[in-house]
Amino acid sequence: MTDRIGYYEEKWETESPDAREARQVAWLRETVQYAYAHCESVKEKMDEAGVGPDAIRAIQDLEKIPITPKRDLVRLNKEKGPFGGFLGVDMSDLKRVYISPGPIYDPHGREDDAFSLQPLFYNAGFRKGDRVINTFSYHLTPAGIFCDEAINALGCVLIPTGVGNTEVQLKTMLDLKANGYIGVPSFLMSLIKKAEEAGYDFNRDFSMEVAFVAGEILPDSMRKTLEETYHIIVRQGLITADIGGISYECPERNGMHYSEHRIVEIVDPQTGKQVGPGEIGEIVVTPLRHKTYPIIRFGTGDLSYYEDDPCPCGRTSRRMMRIVGRVDQVTKVRGMFIHPSQVQEVAKAFEQISRVRVRVDREGESDLMWFDIELSEGASGTDVLKSQIEEKIREVLKLRGDVVFVAKGTIPEDAKTIEDVRKWE
Ligand SMILES: [Zn+2]
Repeated sequence: MTDRIGYYEEKWETESPDAREARQVAWLRETVQYAYAHCESVKEKMDEAGVGPDAIRAIQDLEKIPITPKRDLVRLNKEKGPFGGFLGVDMSDLKRVYISPGPIYDPHGREDDAFSLQPLFYNAGFRKGDRVINTFSYHLTPAGIFCDEAINALGCVLIPTGVGNTEVQLKTMLDLKANGYIGVPSFLMSLIKKAEEAGYDFNRDFSMEVAFVAGEILPDSMRKTLEETYHIIVRQGLITADIGGISYECPERNGMHYSEHRIVEIVDPQTGKQVGPGEIGEIVVTPLRHKTYPIIRFGTGDLSYYEDDPCPCGRTSRRMMRIVGRVDQVTKVRGMFIHPSQVQEVAKAFEQISRVRVRVDREGESDLMWFDIELSEGASGTDVLKSQIEEKIREVLKLRGDVVFVAKGTIPEDAKTIEDVRKWE
């Protein structure tokens, strides 16, 4: 059996938090100096905030620099031309240019492992000699090609199957005894289902051992099926088109360790300030020692929270827990962010709940929150059920909310999960 456990960069992955901060701050200072000197948009946003590169002496100092959210990249690409003023090298030095909707032009430079994906794939369990199908797109956007390069650099045999073509994918997997998969989790599942529909016994006839999945939420139930029924090692990672690898799962699968090559912050989306462990905020990323595209504080728009208790795998980095949702869907109630996915989590815990909508209003200086609940056929809105749901609301949202049982059909079909009717005058 191939050993699929083990560190890619043991020294860094296991160093003490203080040593890590010292190393990353040294890299950060170098990066900020470079970006300030070479990228018009970095200089502009720092000048506007009145921050010079010398002011960045700790990770916390990053709070002084405004975040660049993805939507700003769209605007800046329009205003300043391709790369939006963040290209740190001459365009003639690039290897490739990718195009994301917007359009946003993303540069691929010539530095080694430019998107910092090799550590993610190694730590996910890919090893030299693995035969890997890469089902991400090879056109326009970077996912196909940048995963291809990184997997190749680890010594794996890469089969660029790209998106779709289920039948060709299955034949390829069989003929070449592919044992690795890269792509979205739902596509792996549908390949397995298609194989079974065609009469194959997936465990007996196919060789799949390890999968790296990204790009969509991996439901716990799907993970369980892939791991327990089909015996595939499934690891997730967070990757973006603009800066590549951000975090990855280790064999413990308890959240995604931060990449050693990025500074990852979880911040309050309204203030840009870093939040503590367990608190929900936006994932903001700064690539380190990256000359091609040194966006300082890139706002991914994804919401998560981190834990920093020791991981049994021996890695000492913080772990980003599940992705809770997108920044543009959050509502702040009594100083806490709430997200539609948390509301659904409450609803899913009770089979008596058929539909739910949250209303947020304001009375005087205080926020009020109600959970309107339509019950399933046969269920009755008892006081016991009401208090059980309110208890669950406190547990999941860390906030008190009142449950109101409403008649079937009260919640409009197109209702938002969280209806914020507060007026701010
Ligand atoms: Zn770990």
